[in-house]
Amino acid sequence: MKKLLVVLALSFTALFAKPNVVILATGGTIAGSASSQLDTAYTSGTITVDAIIAAVPQLKDIANIKGEQVSNIGSQAMTNEIWLKLSKRVNELLKRKDVDGIVITHGTDTLEATAYFLDLTIKSDKPVVLVGAMRNSSSMSADGPLNIYNAVSVAINKESKAKGVLVAMNDKIHAAREVQKTNTTAVDTFQSPNTGAIGSVFYGNVKYYLAPVRAHTKKSEFDVSKLNELPQVDIIYAHANDNASIIDYLIKNGSKGIISVGMGNGSLYPDSQNLLEEAVSKGIKVVRSSRVGSGEVTLNGETNDEKSGFIVADNLSPAKARVLLMLALTKTNDTAKIQQMYFKY
Ligand code: ASP
Repeated sequence: MKKLLVVLALSFTALFAKPNVVILATGGTIAGSASSQLDTAYTSGTITVDAIIAAVPQLKDIANIKGEQVSNIGSQAMTNEIWLKLSKRVNELLKRKDVDGIVITHGTDTLEATAYFLDLTIKSDKPVVLVGAMRNSSSMSADGPLNIYNAVSVAINKESKAKGVLVAMNDKIHAAREVQKTNTTAVDTFQSPNTGAIGSVFYGNVKYYLAPVRAHTKKSEFDVSKLNELPQVDIIYAHANDNASIIDYLIKNGSKGIISVGMGNGSLYPDSQNLLEEAVSKGIKVVRSSRVGSGEVTLNGETNDEKSGFIVADNLSPAKARVLLMLALTKTNDTAKIQQMYFKY
């Protein structure tokens, strides 16, 4: 009888126990403040993770929350070093039985690249959700508190498992590979131009409509657990009357890979194309992406990639093409294999 009571008590506790979520704070406007509610001047990364959590007392009703400060920067100052630290910490936390999901507060400028880096380096099915804000914490109608409440709601939702790293912003759920910041100031800035959002989250009510199909998390071959740095990969932006000497500079200054943000379908100014071919001949990997903002860059389309030794980014944004090339170069130097990675991830 006593045994039965213990079993009943334990099952009752398990049934009504709240999930455990760790909020890792990195900075950004969501942790920013200004001197008045309508001030357009403000500073990112001025309030701590504890203050962010305290501003949303409703979180306690849905989850047990713990906070950790990873950095407190404007995400324009994001580094490979912080990415590695964040990925290792997330992997460490997700191995624990008492952690059910993770929310990462982040500046919006580089949020999508961090999300994709984690999507390719986290080895768990448990939900990892990135969130930011377009209005700082002192602002009138700040979007941070509801965005955080929604992000935690996504992190504790059973359907969020095994969907890769997610981004919850402005009532929408996006897949890490697809999401992009598309407007400098608007609260609906995050969009997934090639596929659309995969779900919605409305005052904590989570609904999914799609699931990502590209390889991520447990199906990804990239392992950063023993890495302290990543290969140097640079990005150059193509334009009419291009100044190709920038490429010459990169060739001479340690670049292991160059992401070309080409015109249209990744097209290049002739002088730039010549110098990028020279880069390839020196062992530097060159990936063609596009400045257009959506759509694939076609392999051997108007540009003959096979002849030039170039790789195409498929429909990855330039910032994410850089993330993938850095990780690819930790595995192989083979151009054909790296090309396949752009079609797999
Ligand atoms: N510059 C800020 C950042 O990325 C912008 C933001 O968070 O909205 O940290």
